[in-house]
Amino acid sequence: MTQYPNLFRPLDLGFVTLPNRVLMGSMHTNLEETGDWGRVAEFYAERAAGDVALIVTGGIAPNREGGVFPGASGLFKPEDIANHRIVTDRVHENGGRIAMQVLHAGRYAYSPEAVAPSAIKSPISPFPPKELDEEGIEKQITDIVTAAARAREAGYDGVEIMGSEGYFLNQFLVTHTNKRTDKWGGSYENRMRLPVEVVRRVRHAVGPDFIVIYRLSMIDLIPNGSTWDEVVMLAKAIEAAGATIINTGIGWHEARIPTIATSVPRRAFTWVTKKLMGEVSIPLITSNRINTPQVAEDVLAEGCADMVSMARPFLADSQFVAKAARGDAAKIAPCIACNQACLDHTFQMKLTSCLVNPRACHETELKIEPTAAPKSVAIVGAGPAGLSTALTAAERGHAVTLFDKSDRIGGQLNMAARVPGKEEFWGLIDWYKSMLDDSTIDLRLNEEATVEALADFDEVIIATGVRPRDPQIAGQDNANTVTYYDVLKNDAPVGDRVAVVGAGGIGFDVSEFLVSTGDSATEDLDLWRQEWGVDDPEGTRGGIGAAENPTPARDVTLLQRKSERPGKRLGKTTGWIHRMSLQKYGVKMIGGVNYESISDEGLHVSHGEDRSDPQVIAADTIVLCTGQEPERSLADALEAAGRTPHVIGGADVAAELDAKRAIDQGTRLAAQL
Ligand code: NAP
Ligand code: SF4
Repeated sequence: MTQYPNLFRPLDLGFVTLPNRVLMGSMHTNLEETGDWGRVAEFYAERAAGDVALIVTGGIAPNREGGVFPGASGLFKPEDIANHRIVTDRVHENGGRIAMQVLHAGRYAYSPEAVAPSAIKSPISPFPPKELDEEGIEKQITDIVTAAARAREAGYDGVEIMGSEGYFLNQFLVTHTNKRTDKWGGSYENRMRLPVEVVRRVRHAVGPDFIVIYRLSMIDLIPNGSTWDEVVMLAKAIEAAGATIINTGIGWHEARIPTIATSVPRRAFTWVTKKLMGEVSIPLITSNRINTPQVAEDVLAEGCADMVSMARPFLADSQFVAKAARGDAAKIAPCIACNQACLDHTFQMKLTSCLVNPRACHETELKIEPTAAPKSVAIVGAGPAGLSTALTAAERGHAVTLFDKSDRIGGQLNMAARVPGKEEFWGLIDWYKSMLDDSTIDLRLNEEATVEALADFDEVIIATGVRPRDPQIAGQDNANTVTYYDVLKNDAPVGDRVAVVGAGGIGFDVSEFLVSTGDSATEDLDLWRQEWGVDDPEGTRGGIGAAENPTPARDVTLLQRKSERPGKRLGKTTGWIHRMSLQKYGVKMIGGVNYESISDEGLHVSHGEDRSDPQVIAADTIVLCTGQEPERSLADALEAAGRTPHVIGGADVAAELDAKRAIDQGTRLAAQL
């Protein structure tokens, strides 16, 4: 008897029955662009073997102008079909089903060839699109339909037509981007003509026994977005045009409201899909920030949708569904919604992976295989680097002993998890705990490893992490000055007026921690919607309401020496959220300062290279978040004693250190031991 009866109820689509209610949502991984289709196939095949009911590929362009960027993967030549056949064959061999997403970017194309309903540049691309004429529109429809027909020829089980997130079809729907006066613009009937026509002609081309999913923007989160009546009208027309399933799209990419970041509450938008239940008779899929089987089960049990879509959770753990089915949810590596190795990579044109699972998209190259020569392995430090090394080495059959002088595992993850909006990190620590419990690893907490204690191990791995960097500011020994470590680890008292020195990831985190009154909006959907102004689209066009700024617990000033905008180097897809969040709390951000001294009055700074404009940032507490240095004392002592330890994570390189690099480095080392 499953714990998740709704999740594991088959879904009958008439011509095919899906074995459960889980869709692996579309993700752009940049894998297709490697041109190594065997590698693409292995990525999807491993997920198919993990029992997900239906996979949707990353967006595949129907033509050159529709590509998200020049060279983006497409299916616009008959000779492309063979590549896709490699993927569909491998998925089917592994018992899965896969649909191809047809994605036309419209004005979101990062390309001078971009086309759109009207020549209005998007805020997220430097290229103004060309306005399509009647013939141009017909060409786009034909190309989309041809791509869908080729997908069927390539062996796909269906297509998903991308009609949301502000892409091409979505751009026709709203006056924000569609100023046309012909039959493709003006009234809503005219504006929805293109998406409906696309679905109608795709259905005609692919025949009745082929899955056609339409991804429909149910809440645009942009000015002049769709009304709820329009959403319902479109959904009914899409059903009548022949779609098999409607999937939920949330927010345009240019929206200034976060929709999938870790600070967004779990299942934050399932209420939107629920509003559409009963309006159409085809199944609805809901999406966004669903990352555990229990959350998915609750969403289905509450009648929010017929199926759930999860995308990033399948990067974190390809076996999500299989583990849930056998009652092993605690062993599912959790997606913490950080975007650090997935979306941030995508936007940097790098191959996607996963912070938690470095094998994601590296299946053919990073293999964890049993060792032929088991060794005794000591690992010092149970932070992300040490934990990932220990688990991988033990999985391969090595005898692993893991030391940490602290009374708990997780290292700096324990500090991150305390920051409001980063609660998902607790789930990662819990996962490590359950994996350790189930392993052969000898965990030695409260134990400081010494050179002598490590003498008899075949391999010694130092993952002792970092210590705060000393910024050497005159007066920093004053009682009003603490480090981020004192605040997040040791609960050092902090006054009402605070100067945070250093605006890296930790400076931002500490500021968020200090302005918070203790109620995290991430744990309270109503509060979160209030803070970001997310309204019911039934009352407000596009769902954009008035945001209410929260009351800060403290008066915080965040400083850095660089003159660039503070937060500029944070994650590509999340930095703006951190900045906006602190702005909502009234945090003052100042760049281009020199730290002159600290006194009882506060922090004394000057500005610019000529150290002009002296200023006192009045503060009861000054928190130093000035980066980190490797904690190498044990590594140095071992080397002095003639050993050659492996040094990984922050103990190796503290600059740019984050859990992503630590976990990747640890896993790769253990794969080779
Ligand atoms: P960081 O990103 O290197 O930032 C250190 C800050 O201290 C910078 O603002 C730097 O800016 C300043 N600084 C450096 N040396 C200084 C000195 N000698 N005196 C005064 N100020 C100095 O380090 P972090 O904030 O400690 O974060 C460590 C790592 O954790 C990051 O690289 C990141 O990968 C990870 N992390 C990420 C996130 C996230 O949101 N994704 C959150 C937390 C941590 P100036 O030199 O301009 O003053
Ligand atoms: Fe999830 Fe972060 Fe992994 Fe992306 S990198 S899949 S957001 S855990």
